[in-house]
Amino acid sequence: MTTLAIIGGGIAGRSLIYTLAKRKNIFSNITLFDSDSFARTCSLRSTAIVAPRGVSAGHSDLGDLLLAAFQTFAQHVEEDRPLGVFPITQYTGAITKLDQFKQRYPHGTSCKATASFNLRDETYLATDPAFMIETSTYLKWLLDEAAQLPIVVRNEFVTNLNDSGSDFELTTQNGVSNRFDKVIFAGGFYNQYWGPTQAAKPVQGSYFEFLKTDFGSESFSLTLESDNLVYHALSKTLLIGSSSQNDSHEIPPMQDLKEIYSRLSQRLELKLPPIDSGNILTGIREKGPKRSPYISIDRNSARIGGFYKNGYSLGLHLGRELIDQFS
Ligand SMILES: Cc1cc2nc3c(=O)[nH]c(=O)nc-3n(C[C@H](O)[C@H](O)[C@H](O)COP(=O)(O)OP(=O)(O)OC[C@H]3O[C@@H](n4cnc5c(N)ncnc54)[C@H](O)[C@@H]3O)c2cc1C
Repeated sequence: MTTLAIIGGGIAGRSLIYTLAKRKNIFSNITLFDSDSFARTCSLRSTAIVAPRGVSAGHSDLGDLLLAAFQTFAQHVEEDRPLGVFPITQYTGAITKLDQFKQRYPHGTSCKATASFNLRDETYLATDPAFMIETSTYLKWLLDEAAQLPIVVRNEFVTNLNDSGSDFELTTQNGVSNRFDKVIFAGGFYNQYWGPTQAAKPVQGSYFEFLKTDFGSESFSLTLESDNLVYHALSKTLLIGSSSQNDSHEIPPMQDLKEIYSRLSQRLELKLPPIDSGNILTGIREKGPKRSPYISIDRNSARIGGFYKNGYSLGLHLGRELIDQFS
């Protein structure tokens, strides 16, 4: 019987386990190593919207992959009714480079009022069906759905890995070692620690979180130019961001965040909560060359990652592909 270790319990690692539960599991034991205190889980610090983002088929491999991943996720929502995932409207608008934007979003229209908010000036906006994810609920659900599998979750970090050629010896921070037949690296940017297969970079993303904000009973997400505003009606939470910096640390770029807040408050007829009442959340994601996500298999080990954006749909889509090839 074959044993498997998965290093990383963000959306990538949990989508793999969920897929093993839904498809045929061949492993006699699956151990998930995850440690938010060692490497903070980006999936819990994400605005977590799954939207088509103006991608159409046939222009690039990455575009085709993102579109297929969106479709996989939409089908998953329809068939599996996951907890923590809510259908919403995604509004996407532009003020500059309008010609380019209209080519990407030909279904848009100039308007000042939407069903969810009003704008100060006439703005070209496209609306698309999308999904909003309550991250901790959905991440928990993915594991709960796999409760019938022989899984052990270890909230420990793997500090050493020895490949004997026939199996892997993994050692955690407390000095405990165990052997596994196969290993999957799903550790976000920390995949690079186990030997780079490609030149991925860490990219920090930060955003404001305002609790107790009431903008009505409909959740929505707005991307205006590259500024985002996400309103969770159920939890009455507003997210504003997100900045993007080529950094591997979690100190947020306050000036960038303030500018995003200020642009949105000038452009929207919404009374935003005072800026100093916001919490700041920061995640570090892995940006592969040309923003490409990856799966790779090398005998008994595999890697999944490079989820710069769209991690919540790519996790399931590429997770299925990896499990099909690796099991
Ligand atoms: C500000 C921001 C906004 C975003 N918005 C969106 C969005 O709207 N939609 C979307 O789909 N995506 C979005 N993303 C991207 C998405 O969040 C990421 O793509 C995704 O979370 C990456 O998931 P992951 O599983 O690869 O990595 P992570 O979630 O970081 O999980 C990796 C896990 O591996 C663990 N780990 C690593 N090394 C070890 C080790 N040695 N031992 C034990 N455990 C280990 C870590 O503790 C961590 O928990 C956003 C990201 C940010 C930062």
